[in-house]
Amino acid sequence: AGMASDYLEIRDLRVTFDGFHAVDGVDLTLLQGDLRFLIGPNGAGKTTLVDAVTGLVPATGSITKSGIELVGKKTHKIARLGVGRTFQTASVFEELSVLQNLDIAAGAGRSPWQLLRRRKDVLPEIEEALETIGLSAHRDTPAGILAHGQKQWLEIGMLLVQNADVLLLDEPVAGMSGDEREETGRLLRRIGAQRTVVVVEHDMDFMRAFATSVTVLARGKVIAEGTVEEVQNDPQVQEVYLGT
Ligand code: ADP
Repeated sequence: AGMASDYLEIRDLRVTFDGFHAVDGVDLTLLQGDLRFLIGPNGAGKTTLVDAVTGLVPATGSITKSGIELVGKKTHKIARLGVGRTFQTASVFEELSVLQNLDIAAGAGRSPWQLLRRRKDVLPEIEEALETIGLSAHRDTPAGILAHGQKQWLEIGMLLVQNADVLLLDEPVAGMSGDEREETGRLLRRIGAQRTVVVVEHDMDFMRAFATSVTVLARGKVIAEGTVEEVQNDPQVQEVYLGT
């Protein structure tokens, strides 16, 4: 285990599909307060890496969160340890209201006893999440009629009420308007201050505006890591991007 401040520590992570090394020995340390962008050409292994962290694909190596090993644990167990992710298409319950969506998310993983003790009033953490994601005024709106950006924010809110403190977001601004992107960047900064946020993203302008650090993957390996400026000036990074 690393130092107490090491939030998520990935060591020699490998994911192999029929002999093909999709993730090929990745080391990555993510700290609290980090808004880390994970970039790289198509097929670099970004999604597979996120899948491995969340237990969706089998991996070897080590992923520890505050010292607890995640490799080999089941998806729901990893979620309960505070690691949450979103997918490219928001998966909210369309026919339920914003509040109901958050309520269901908050109930996930709790014991029947904890659920029984809950009253009808809105839990403080739900109220707080509504505020954070900017949907307080839309609490009774069916999620299905929210704007595209608002749906993504709701999904992030669902992770917050599950007490996720490591959030892995897959292309959170894909399909968003300029204003929604700006709003999302500010949201990620707010939540990232106390947590660890990993953003898999193709939008380089969005990355330049909001990343605190960047990791570049290519062919399953980390080829560069640092500030936006550092990775942009890295000859190896320029090569993989020009080469595709
Ligand atoms: P990225 O997200 O960076 O575009 P992926 O993680 O989706 O890359 O994919 C990395 C490589 O692993 C690709 O070559 C892809 O075809 C391969 N791959 C991903 N998932 C599977 C799978 N379930 N079975 C076989 N190959 C896969």
